[in-house]
Amino acid sequence: DANLCTEKCHECTHACRIENNVPLFGDEKIDAYWIRKVTATPKYIEGAESIYLPMLCNHCEHAPCEHVCPVAATFTRKDGIVLIDKHRCIGCRYCMIACPYKARTFVFKKTTKWTNKDVPKRSKGVVEKCNFCVQRIDQQRLPACVEACNKTGEKAMIFGNLKDRDSEISQYLRKYAPKRLREDLGLEPKVFYRGI
Ligand code: SF4
Ligand code: SF4
Repeated sequence: DANLCTEKCHECTHACRIENNVPLFGDEKIDAYWIRKVTATPKYIEGAESIYLPMLCNHCEHAPCEHVCPVAATFTRKDGIVLIDKHRCIGCRYCMIACPYKARTFVFKKTTKWTNKDVPKRSKGVVEKCNFCVQRIDQQRLPACVEACNKTGEKAMIFGNLKDRDSEISQYLRKYAPKRLREDLGLEPKVFYRGI
């Protein structure tokens, strides 16, 4: 919810790095981002204020990253989460070009810190991206970013089952009709933003 997300808060991105062992090396050329805080400032509306958005993989229903992968390393689980099999990935990076949301990054350097032993160490030479903290989903827990956002009290992020009409997220979508980024591309992304 861009109406609730604030400029200074970076709890979601911080929690993601710890949960998924995604380090910062202090070098833009090799730093990976599974989730980024983005500032959007309307150019042509006088007096319009900036909004702040977390951007991540949209887990597109028609995922171009999956279609272009030559070795079927990218695939969609039955619940709709788009994943990468790091053992299959050959690092060709076609998927990075295909993704219109710039959600994927290439692992140039191995992680020295292993902040969460529930997830494997990062493998050099493959592509990675947000997986909705699939290790947590399978334990009926929230993704780390959502949990961290909830702890701030703002509750700017909600996660849930879009196929369950009674879930909190489904009720939220009916009530506020939030939009998706670049809906015109027809990829049916599963991340929605209110206030854009
Ligand atoms: Fe693939 Fe990008 Fe869509 Fe994620 S946002 S499913 S990486 S095309
Ligand atoms: Fe598939 Fe890996 Fe190539 Fe991406 S980089 S298209 S996941 S093999």
